[in-house]
Amino acid sequence: MANRVVIALGGNAILKPNQEATLEVQLENVRVSAELIAKIEELDYQIILTHGNGPQVGNILRQNEEAKDVVPPFPLDVCNAESQGFIGYMLEQSLKNSLETKGLTSNVVTLLTQTEVSAEDKAFEQPNKPIGIFYSELEAKKMEKEKGWVMMEDAGRGYRRVVPSPQPKAIHGVDAIVKLVNQNTIVIAGGGGGIPVVRCQNGLLKGIEAVIDKDRTGKKLAEQVDADVFMMLTDVSNVYINYGKENQEKLETISVDQAQRYMDEGHFADGSMGPKMEAAIAFAKQGKTAIICSLEEADLALSGKAGTRVTG
Ligand code: ADP
Ligand code: MG
Repeated sequence: MANRVVIALGGNAILKPNQEATLEVQLENVRVSAELIAKIEELDYQIILTHGNGPQVGNILRQNEEAKDVVPPFPLDVCNAESQGFIGYMLEQSLKNSLETKGLTSNVVTLLTQTEVSAEDKAFEQPNKPIGIFYSELEAKKMEKEKGWVMMEDAGRGYRRVVPSPQPKAIHGVDAIVKLVNQNTIVIAGGGGGIPVVRCQNGLLKGIEAVIDKDRTGKKLAEQVDADVFMMLTDVSNVYINYGKENQEKLETISVDQAQRYMDEGHFADGSMGPKMEAAIAFAKQGKTAIICSLEEADLALSGKAGTRVTG
């Protein structure tokens, strides 16, 4: 049976820093990314694809904010759903075109995904993830009072809303994902970490104002679909120790224990490589393989010829 891989696409696959967020620019990036993913399909893997949404959901929030006097703004869970829809559409269409060009027969489907989190998650006590636009101190005070938002000063640039970033507890729709990949279909799911939902005391699901880290969601998805490999594709070829210093050292294949030691020594930055290595270690611990590499070398990395792999 074909091996199963969950691939988490980094922000760069859709929009690079300093690029303008037009549809044309994003579509062109996605077209190139899709060509690279199609190469993995050629290696005969069952593929489940997930992706980030930082700049895209940021712009949706801004649209909501700028237009709030004419169109009522939507909450964060709905904004995530919107971003999954639009990014999923770009990825699905580009992937279909790439596969078609290569003469591959696989199908592609995008699933709108809810990610359940626990209402008791300690992230809710301490929202710390900044989102959306910058506000003046006066506006920030107004938002706190009128909307109950938590606002925080952001490195002298003004005030931003901060929201909780809880751990994903369960990805919904996994049975459908498994059925689809077993039927020669690439599934795009859990985009932007998934739509944050909680289960209420009456047992029913409800959207919640939070964001979920896409690498954590990717790892949870990889566990739930029983993937053989979990890959995080980003903008660096490898993970390094002493990153950015003169004595930086490229990591190739390392054990979970070694990775954990480097993590404890603080080699991986909090908002970027930290969550990736945390996810890689937790996944590999179950006797599996996690890979962190560049999008360009994804197929090589799967064959063990590039990237950083953490093995359990
Ligand atoms: P993505 O959108 O792919 O999640 P991130 O910016 O969150 O991208 O993470 C990738 C970035 O992590 C790299 O561009 C790099 O600057 C940074 N980084 C931090 N620590 C390390 C490290 N130890 N090794 C390699 N890259 C690191
Ligand atoms: Mg990141």
